[in-house]
Amino acid sequence: MINIPKGTKDVLPLESYKWHYIENIARETASLFGVKEIRTPTFEHTELFLRGVGDTTDIVNKEMYTFEDKGKRSITLKPEGTAGVARAFIENGLVSLPMPVKMYYITPVFRYERPQAGRLREHHQFGVEFYGAKSADIDAEVILLANTLLTKAGLNVKLNINSMGCEKCRKEYNAKLKEFFKDNLSNMCPTCKERYEKNPLRILDCKEEGCKKINENAPSILDFLCDECSEHFESLKAHLDVAGLEYAINPKIVRGLDYYTKTVFEFVTTSLGSQGTVCGGGRYDKLIEQIGGTSVPGVGFGMGLERVIMLMEAEGVNIPNDDKVTVFIASMGESANKKAFELSYKLRLKGVSAETDHIGRSFKSQFKYADKIGAKYVIALGDDELLSGVCKVKKMADGTESEIKLDKVLEYNF
Ligand SMILES: [Zn+2]
Ligand SMILES: [Zn+2]
Repeated sequence: MINIPKGTKDVLPLESYKWHYIENIARETASLFGVKEIRTPTFEHTELFLRGVGDTTDIVNKEMYTFEDKGKRSITLKPEGTAGVARAFIENGLVSLPMPVKMYYITPVFRYERPQAGRLREHHQFGVEFYGAKSADIDAEVILLANTLLTKAGLNVKLNINSMGCEKCRKEYNAKLKEFFKDNLSNMCPTCKERYEKNPLRILDCKEEGCKKINENAPSILDFLCDECSEHFESLKAHLDVAGLEYAINPKIVRGLDYYTKTVFEFVTTSLGSQGTVCGGGRYDKLIEQIGGTSVPGVGFGMGLERVIMLMEAEGVNIPNDDKVTVFIASMGESANKKAFELSYKLRLKGVSAETDHIGRSFKSQFKYADKIGAKYVIALGDDELLSGVCKVKKMADGTESEIKLDKVLEYNF
C-alpha cells in the first residue's frame, strides 16, 4: 500500500463541492473588481524566489521545495504566488497594458513545513496582484476585495493594518530596533538571533513567547514614517473609512516576505480558538525592479483556501451542495433499462443532470440509491410504463407524484 506524501491532502468526491463553492466566490468577487485570472507554472527557476521572495525570509532559508532537474537546473516548486506573477508580468511585457493591471490566481503552493497540526506542504492559495498604481486608494481596493470575498464566504474576520515604510524610513527604524533589541538578545529564540543581523523587523512577527514579551515594548515603525509614507498611510485609512470598513492599526504586523513596502494588512479570526491569519498582503513597490523589470508599483494579497474552508466549517457556514443529481431514472427489464439509458443521456444534453442504474439493483434499492445521491426527482420505468407510454415522476422533497407521457420527459420542467 502506497500512502500519500506527508503534508499533502486528497480532496475527495463528496467534499469537492466545498472547493467549487469557495473558488466560485473568489472568481465572482475578482470579476466584480475587474480582476482577470493569470496562470503561471507550478515551478520556476530557484533564482526567481531568491531574488523575489528575499533570502532573509524563513521560506527561502529552510522551507522551499528545491531540486535539480535532469538538465542540472535548480528548480523550485512555487512557495507563494506573487513572484511567478511578477516574472510573467515582466516577461510578457504586460507593462505596456493600460494601468493598473489587475490579476488574480488560484494555485497550489509548496513549503517544506514541519508537519505539525494543520501545516500542509502543499496547499492552495487565492491571491490578487495589482500593478501600476502607487496611490493608497488601490491598496484600499485590494483590501476591500479580500473583505468582500471573506464576507461572502460567511466568515467573521477583523482587519489589521500597518505601514512598513519605505527604504528611507525603514533604515532609520531598523537602526532603532537593533538598538532596542541589543540588550535582549540573550533572551531571544535562535531564529530571532539570526534575524537580528539580517532583518530585525522580522523579530516583531515572532510567535515564541519570550520574543513576544520583548516585542511588547519595541518602538513602533509608525513613529518613523517619512512624509510620503505617512501621507500614504493616512490616505489608506481615509479610503477604508469612506468604504465603512473597520480596522485596527497594529504596528506589529510585518509580513514574512522581504518585498513589502508601505501598506501591510492581515485579516484575522479567532474562530479556531487562538487568533489566526486568514489573509495577508500589502504593497511591494520594489518587487518588479528586484527581479529585473522596470520600476512598477504593486499591491496584493494571498489567502490559503484550505484555511478558509476550515474556518467556514468551524463557523458553521452552510455550504450549498450544487453537485446533486436532478433526475434519477429507475428501471427494471431490458427494454426499460435501455429507455432509461437513452433518456438520461438526452436529459444531460438538454442541461439536466441525470443518472440511471448501472449495477443491476432492484427497484427498491434504486430508489434508496437515488435518495443517497440526493436526486431531486425519480422516474420509474418498467414494462408497464413502456406499454402505456406514461410514467410517474416523483418529487423526492415531498414525495408527490405526477404522471407524464414518456415522450414528454425531455420537455418536463425539472
Ligand atoms: Zn518612507
Ligand atoms: Zn523569536
